[in-house]
Amino acid sequence: MFVGHYGVSFAAKRVAPALPLWVLFIAVQLLDVFWAPFILLGIEKVRIVPGITASNPLDLYYMPYTHSLVAAVLWSIGALFVYRRLAPKGLARSAASVVGLAVLSHWLLDLLVHRPDLPLYDNTAKVGFGLWNFPAVAFALEAAVLFGGMWLYFGTAVVSRLRMVVLGVVMLGVQAYVFFGPPPVSDNAAALTALISYGVFAAAVARLEPLLPTPRPFEDA
Ligand SMILES: [Zn+2]
Repeated sequence: MFVGHYGVSFAAKRVAPALPLWVLFIAVQLLDVFWAPFILLGIEKVRIVPGITASNPLDLYYMPYTHSLVAAVLWSIGALFVYRRLAPKGLARSAASVVGLAVLSHWLLDLLVHRPDLPLYDNTAKVGFGLWNFPAVAFALEAAVLFGGMWLYFGTAVVSRLRMVVLGVVMLGVQAYVFFGPPPVSDNAAALTALISYGVFAAAVARLEPLLPTPRPFEDA
């Protein structure tokens, strides 16, 4: 999954409104944020095999350190503790748990769309429900999770949400290009494009968030 992950970021804001969106944007993509440099460094491996799924040409045959379930759980716990240490004083401790869960959500959403290339541990016992083989369904799912989360984020706020919706549409446009455009020219190009996208999306939302009202947590809604 790609832009759908950000739906979790938006939804998490309803639970932990004090968490900056850009932190949640990094959290939900953390496994990929490390996957990309691991590919560039040759620690994990991918090859471009056009047609391997109907919407995505990535043969992700070796990614035990970022995309095995065991690794995902460890990254989540690590993110929880790192955030707890680095977070500004006064931010509820539960916010760190939300960051940890956001990291873990990446693997669970990937599970829906990936072909069976997600190891449960090491590089073995691979799972994936393969929605990438149904491009229209996978694309609709990305859009539904992204905008569903955004809708939760907007919550009861009444101020203009136009900018954030525009960002969502731009992200979905990038997703459409990935799905229906030409395949990446190389494994490194795929990794680099992904990494740049995550950086740009996080920077964009960091600029937009101060322009929007803070949603109230569910308890108060
Ligand atoms: Zn991933």
